[in-house]
Amino acid sequence: MSVVLRSVGVLAVAVLVLAGCAKPPEMRESLLGTASIDSLTTGATAPRATFRSSYQPMPGIANAQLSGRTVTVGATEQIVLRPGEVVLTFDDGPRPGTTDSILATLDQFGVKATFLMLGSSAERHPALVRKVAEHGHTIGTHTYDHVDLSKLDLPEAVAEIYAGQQAVAAALAPAERAPSRFFRFPYLAQTGLIRTSAVDSRFIVLDVDIDSKDYYKETAEQVLERTLARLDARGGGIILFHDIHLRTAELLPEFLTALRERNYSVVGLRSTGGGVFDMPVVIAEGPSADLI
Ligand SMILES: [Zn+2]
Repeated sequence: MSVVLRSVGVLAVAVLVLAGCAKPPEMRESLLGTASIDSLTTGATAPRATFRSSYQPMPGIANAQLSGRTVTVGATEQIVLRPGEVVLTFDDGPRPGTTDSILATLDQFGVKATFLMLGSSAERHPALVRKVAEHGHTIGTHTYDHVDLSKLDLPEAVAEIYAGQQAVAAALAPAERAPSRFFRFPYLAQTGLIRTSAVDSRFIVLDVDIDSKDYYKETAEQVLERTLARLDARGGGIILFHDIHLRTAELLPEFLTALRERNYSVVGLRSTGGGVFDMPVVIAEGPSADLI
């Protein structure tokens, strides 16, 4: 069994990303202005034209090409986006209905996304896993059962990552496909040690620049408004959505329309050397033979 001891510096990183910190609601209201607040409080039936008109479009040519380049990477640090480029990512699926709807919307706009799937969901819906792949999207993994890995010891965490990847790989195998090497931490919760083990096992950790927080019990319009505001403030980046929420499926057409109007381009991600499920998983530290 390979044992890799990393420097103290890696341990010191021990990153715990605060994925749950929300912008205060007053930010949303100030962005919308008083004229639009009423339309938000009426819920999903609010007139969308009123909602959308609260934005000032970015300068540039409207209706530019939305589908951007495809970036192929072998490591996290190779994901370098240019200003105006976004990567769409969808976590926690697949789920019948919402994932199907999101696939149809992505097709309609001609853009590619990356789906970070749970092993448990992939086991329940293997045909849907294959459908996502057949539509040309990139499939990564997100553990087997969406546990907070930062609360597990290292062998348990590695086993959870590996089990998720194996389950997604099993769903894709009948189509003679394999998952990419992309992996995202549930809740974005991680430690430096677990991240190092994942990287040593050839996973490419996919971080998040803009969290839509589409899991909040809000209307699709509220999520859309906040996500666009954060995107405009940053100018591009990796956007986190979840393909298990109806509001996400509902907001996606308007979101992509807004991206096109603001001259963003949607970049597709690919990893080098997918199909790592047959490879041994490297443990960064400690006893591991029982688990892998
Ligand atoms: Zn998740």
